[in-house]
Amino acid sequence: MSGSDVQADVPVVVAGAGPVGMTAALALHARGVDVTIIEAEPEDRERPGSRAIYVHKDTLRTLEDSSPGLGHRLVDNGIIWSTRRTLFRGTEVFERTYPDAGGDGDLPHFTSLPQVWTEEYMLDAVEDAGIDVHWDDGVEIVESSEDGVYVETESGEGWQAEYVVGADGAGSTVRKEIGAQFDGTESANSFIIADIAEFEEDPLKQERIFHYDHPNADGRNVLLVPFQGGWRVDIQCKESDDPEYLCQDDQIGELVANTLGERYRDRVDWVSQYKFKQVIADRMIDEHNRVLLAGEAGHLFAPFGARGMNSGVADADEAATRITAALNARFEKTADAEIKYYGVQRLKAAQYNRRAAGQALEYLQGDSPVTKTKKLLASKVAPYYEPAGEWLDDAPYGPHGGPPVTIGQY
Ligand SMILES: Cc1cc2nc3c(=O)[nH]c(=O)nc-3n(C[C@H](O)[C@H](O)[C@H](O)COP(=O)(O)OP(=O)(O)OC[C@H]3O[C@@H](n4cnc5c(N)ncnc54)[C@H](O)[C@@H]3O)c2cc1C
Repeated sequence: MSGSDVQADVPVVVAGAGPVGMTAALALHARGVDVTIIEAEPEDRERPGSRAIYVHKDTLRTLEDSSPGLGHRLVDNGIIWSTRRTLFRGTEVFERTYPDAGGDGDLPHFTSLPQVWTEEYMLDAVEDAGIDVHWDDGVEIVESSEDGVYVETESGEGWQAEYVVGADGAGSTVRKEIGAQFDGTESANSFIIADIAEFEEDPLKQERIFHYDHPNADGRNVLLVPFQGGWRVDIQCKESDDPEYLCQDDQIGELVANTLGERYRDRVDWVSQYKFKQVIADRMIDEHNRVLLAGEAGHLFAPFGARGMNSGVADADEAATRITAALNARFEKTADAEIKYYGVQRLKAAQYNRRAAGQALEYLQGDSPVTKTKKLLASKVAPYYEPAGEWLDDAPYGPHGGPPVTIGQY
């Protein structure tokens, strides 16, 4: 153990007050387990961009069950676009409008809102629950043993906990402290992602639109997704592109004007460029079955299919279930088995999600002549044979659904 005095004893410490850490804390609290969150950044920080706008129904259900009213608050403040459309080189090849919001009659199939809002509502729920958040002091040391975990922050404060959830994001200190390592690949081309502010008066129709080889964007693929208050514009760069140049104000303004409409030229709130990583930690728990990785601390996926935050929330919920069972176990071996189950189940879920997002990435970026020919043929056949158009509309997001191990949870 480190030199610092232990100042607090809590059953569970959660590292990170991102969406996954806050979900883990709420889900533990809902199960009657006391928890402290330790967050590296100050409470008044500004988080960048809209990021996870597409919130799946399973995520809404987890949030609603963990903090009654929270799932509905996201829905009330989000939008549900009911039309999906796809165009191939400027010609529409698929359109479908749904009559209702789907879902289970209580919560809809999804909602779309900026991640900063989701986090704001989660934080309100955390505060309402009386969960202690220790801000502006990152976790630096994590030492686990058969008897528990010692956590020390940058300022030297120490916590002795039974279990730790490492939800401290892609650069996770917790992951490094337990000796786990990311393994995987990175996308070949870059993607530019921009948030565009919508007009209150005369907004565009709320529909998700995918353009193959957009004629007004020099033949790049472009995805347009509405969320409450704005649009996500996602542009797939060509190999010859300089993404940094395309992110400059005048360049991104031009791309936005050409794809969303001239009046949106100066409405860019935020722009960034990415190469998407497809990586998973080689294990999701430590050797003593005391530390559980969740969310981007454990895996990073390309965003097609919206598997980032959504799968992290599923990790958090499962971590809360397993930790609660472990805390209630009569025997050490029983407690260990609960945590080991988490390690296997969420690793398999991550592998499934990486494959699914990878399938979409390969479809979009790959230079397989077979896929290219299939896309072209499907675009020609689509006016006469709807499944061809539906395939073009579906494929950029990978397979439907989540990892089989989580199906049937509700
Ligand atoms: C452009 C873009 C679009 C996206 N779209 C979607 C989408 O539509 N749907 C979707 O599901 N996902 C999407 N994602 C992914 C989603 O944003 C992430 O998966 C999500 O933020 C991960 O949450 P997290 O809590 O695991 O990590 P983070 O959000 O990174 O939170 C980690 C937290 O830990 C804190 N921290 C870091 N180090 C320490 C430390 N040492 N000690 C304590 N705290 C620490 C950080 O300050 C932060 O608060 C998108 C991402 C991007 C970039």
